[in-house]
Amino acid sequence: MSVTNRLVDIPKEFYSYSSGLPFERCIECDRYLLEGGTEYFIEKAIKQYDGFSAKEVIFEYAICANCADTIRKAISRKSMASIERYFLENVDFSKRMQIMSSNPGDALALINNCLVSQVPVSEVTEYQIFAQCNGNSLNLSQMPYMVSGQTLEQIQHLLSSETRDELNDFMQRNLGPSPELAEVLPGSKVVII
Ligand SMILES: [Zn+2]
Repeated sequence: MSVTNRLVDIPKEFYSYSSGLPFERCIECDRYLLEGGTEYFIEKAIKQYDGFSAKEVIFEYAICANCADTIRKAISRKSMASIERYFLENVDFSKRMQIMSSNPGDALALINNCLVSQVPVSEVTEYQIFAQCNGNSLNLSQMPYMVSGQTLEQIQHLLSSETRDELNDFMQRNLGPSPELAEVLPGSKVVII
């Protein structure tokens, strides 16, 4: 696949829920994101209710590649290595390649099942979706993916307390100390990978 084929329009699932439009600004440095060549990531945490007819976005943000890099560097090397090992050991990469090749250019096909457990999104009450974007396009080469609440739990256990503090700081700084958030997400569940 050529590089251009890996860029597709950003599906509405990755728009900002609060504005109904694509994310425009980095949550950390306020950099404008929709200019071609600007690399950034989107993370959204979603909860489903009432037989899943109702959805609530627990938090959502976009972060530019520079700021994401800064945060990654602040995460302990040990935690980072544990996360990487966890993904290497638990993600079925050939399955993912298969989904990609049978659904060319379809970003949504890649967020139907948990990246790790393969549990369908229709069967989980809490999940997060991640995307890598460039200007007003979504980059399909490594993301998007969906991670179920259960998988996030497991990832949390891999993080050192310093790393958890670091991610909690990020969350407090940018997403505010929402009591709702604290209740639903004990400890930080921001995962910038
Ligand atoms: Zn930034």
